[in-house]
Amino acid sequence: MSKYKIPYGRQQITQDDIDAVVETLQSDFLTQGPRIDEFETNFAQYIGSKYAVAVSNGTAALHLSLLAMGIKNNDNIITTPITFAATANAARYLGANVYFADIEKDTFVLDINKVEELILSKPKGFFKAILPVDFGGYPVNTQEFRKLADKYNLFILEDACHAPGAYFVDDKKNKQKAGNGVFAHTTAFSFHPVKHIAAGEGGMITTNNENLYKKLLALRTHGISKENMQYKVLDKNKQGAWYYEMHDLGYNYRITDIQAALGNSQLKKADKGLERRHKIARKYTEAFKNLPIKVQKQDKNFYNAYHLFIILVEKRKELYEYLRKNGIFAQIHYIPVHLLDYYQQFGWKKGDFPVAEDYYEKTLSLPMYPSLKEEEQDYVINKVRAFFE
Ligand SMILES: *Cc1c(COP(=O)(O)O)cnc(C)c1O
Repeated sequence: MSKYKIPYGRQQITQDDIDAVVETLQSDFLTQGPRIDEFETNFAQYIGSKYAVAVSNGTAALHLSLLAMGIKNNDNIITTPITFAATANAARYLGANVYFADIEKDTFVLDINKVEELILSKPKGFFKAILPVDFGGYPVNTQEFRKLADKYNLFILEDACHAPGAYFVDDKKNKQKAGNGVFAHTTAFSFHPVKHIAAGEGGMITTNNENLYKKLLALRTHGISKENMQYKVLDKNKQGAWYYEMHDLGYNYRITDIQAALGNSQLKKADKGLERRHKIARKYTEAFKNLPIKVQKQDKNFYNAYHLFIILVEKRKELYEYLRKNGIFAQIHYIPVHLLDYYQQFGWKKGDFPVAEDYYEKTLSLPMYPSLKEEEQDYVINKVRAFFE
């Protein structure tokens, strides 16, 4: 038995996080109080977007985004097969049909050329939205995706659940942070403990579009709102401060103040965490240089948030088992969504997306999180080396 038990990812909770949560527990609000507004304001500022709407989890962020965009039954959307099932599932909640396009072989993100081919293979107006994913933390070039979207009149919902703090350099040399609202219509984030910012559960939608923002606010709480009241049914003169209207069917997708307090406290450490993740990535990359290991592409114009440190190897299953035996719990991200049983009913089959499927055969995510100790990483590196010797 190894003395180590190293997961692929984990949260880092310190005393200030605990204090923030305890303080909220002792306050007047457990939900819908001041911590939520504060979290939204701070998050929008961190990402650089005009608006942020906190919700109960990342999947809710995706679902509400699509709902606010007006995606409905039998609309068609495009996403990547290499993502967590939630990206595609969110569209299914609305009855939309999910189409996939293959990934780029070096960055593992959705291949924009394949997306355009797919769009052109269908009648004009067939697709309503593209859902690119900042996979593993590698930001997609949303500027290019937005150009494509405008050409074909589509929405862009960016799934940045892996990528708070990631950015790319646009064609005018400006840094564009994932979710800053400049190119994507909305962007979804997750605060699951394995992601960068832990809130227990939690999610955020960022946007620069005021109309979408207002819709999102209402939709996260049943569709009930005190904005934009029309008094179509009840007599305006007889209504008081209690009065509200419900124009659309929404959900209870609220986050609690307890979670928002933790999210706020975690957000303060986000950039430090990214620096640590980069340091870990550099060390792995250097250590694996002479081994038959491929790492995710690195490009000075794309700042990876390194949610994952992904390697591609030929004997993936053997390496996975070997590491496990040695107390290293690597993980596989992900089984291609089009090959999940549920998605089989739509006619997807093996061979549909060869780059994604080849990626899946070889991929393995090594331990990557800010609190990973130096000696733990050395241990992981030594075991990977030992496997190949
Ligand atoms: C985690 C994740 C989600 C869902 O987030 P939850 O907060 O777990 O609902 C969606 N997309 C991707 C790519 C994710 O990694």
